[in-house]
Amino acid sequence: MALINDNFIILSETYLFSEIARKVTAYKEANPSANIIRLGIGDVTRPLAPAVVKALHQAVDEMGQAATFRGYGPEQGYDFLRQTIVQHDFASRGIEISPDEIFVSDGAKSDTGNFGDILGADNIIAVTDPVYPVYVDTNVMAGRAGEQNANGAWNKIVYLPCTFENQFIPALPEKRADIIYLCYPNNPTGTTLKRAELKQWVDYAREHEAIILFDAAYEAFISEPDVPHSIYEIEGAKEVAIEFRSFSKTAGFTGLRCGYTVVPKTVVASTKKNEHIPLNRLWNRRQTTKFNGTAYIVQRAAEAVFSVEGQQQVKETIDYYMYNATLIRKGIEQKGITCFGGVNAPYIWLKTPDSISSWEFFDRLLNEVNVVGTPGVGFGPHGEGYFRLTAFGSHEQTREAMQRIVDWKL
Ligand code: PLP
Repeated sequence: MALINDNFIILSETYLFSEIARKVTAYKEANPSANIIRLGIGDVTRPLAPAVVKALHQAVDEMGQAATFRGYGPEQGYDFLRQTIVQHDFASRGIEISPDEIFVSDGAKSDTGNFGDILGADNIIAVTDPVYPVYVDTNVMAGRAGEQNANGAWNKIVYLPCTFENQFIPALPEKRADIIYLCYPNNPTGTTLKRAELKQWVDYAREHEAIILFDAAYEAFISEPDVPHSIYEIEGAKEVAIEFRSFSKTAGFTGLRCGYTVVPKTVVASTKKNEHIPLNRLWNRRQTTKFNGTAYIVQRAAEAVFSVEGQQQVKETIDYYMYNATLIRKGIEQKGITCFGGVNAPYIWLKTPDSISSWEFFDRLLNEVNVVGTPGVGFGPHGEGYFRLTAFGSHEQTREAMQRIVDWKL
């Protein structure tokens, strides 16, 4: 009989969001008139920018004419988009990246998940904890995680705790780590690393010949000057870091799907025979075999994000969400609860009062004030005792939810 990849069996079920949905449905059935406000979603709610919609329409019209129709495009992305990305996201910050170091894709989830394809099975993986679950689960699928213990941690993964005690700044690994996933601004904690803090990681990676997989999906939400938008703002990062970007949260592309990955030609990893191979070559090989390019119309839409009007329009949307983030922070602080994030990211990470568990906080919030958030423990063992609220709702709902929380007899 055919054999499966056994790693898919040891993978834990995606328990978090299904459990949240189950609890909310059960509550609604028991209380049909309840007005539940969801501040748990990680999806955007505002419509696409008019400049993006216009570019989509134009591209669709091109596809409908024989003279301008396009079939398969380059697997790495059209040159018009790669050039625009280079100019706008890197050259404008004094970073030299060439278009053939940019790989356009259908989003950062696929790229962060797929990148492991070109990395050896014996690498030791390090992740911050709590963490965006894709990094861990895709390494479980690849057989790099080992076995899971009772509190959900995998014995071959190096966990880098991010807690109130270290103010969410992870300490450098004490054990060997070959591949280090960093996500800043962070999902779920909403916290950042300042330039000097990120530099320590780049220096560490250079010294230990490790590779940093840097997820910058929330870069557009940065408001403070000392927070790097790209890891390549740090000297030496082009030797050791891969960067993942997404149009999802930046420009409302969660349904449209577009992102890109930067693989500098200077990042190398070793064969078992100690030959140094550029990852750019391998990622190109992987993508040209397993990926057939992002839709032309979507790439035209992504290009429009960088136009003058596009930039202004996506900024208005980001400001809209960040206004919600401010409302949430203020409400939580007024309630006397400690919270983090919400300044350079659309996530607010709160420390549950009186050390109640993440799930107990969830249940009480749902049952007593009809507000839904996300239990921190769902993002990893060190998320226990924390809770995530998101700024992607409407102003009205966010304001109402915060009023309920402020008035709550907790
Ligand atoms: N990376 C992080 C840290 C995220 O939180 C998300 C989505 O929530 C993604 C990547 C996925 O991005 P995309 O929509 O581009 O696949």
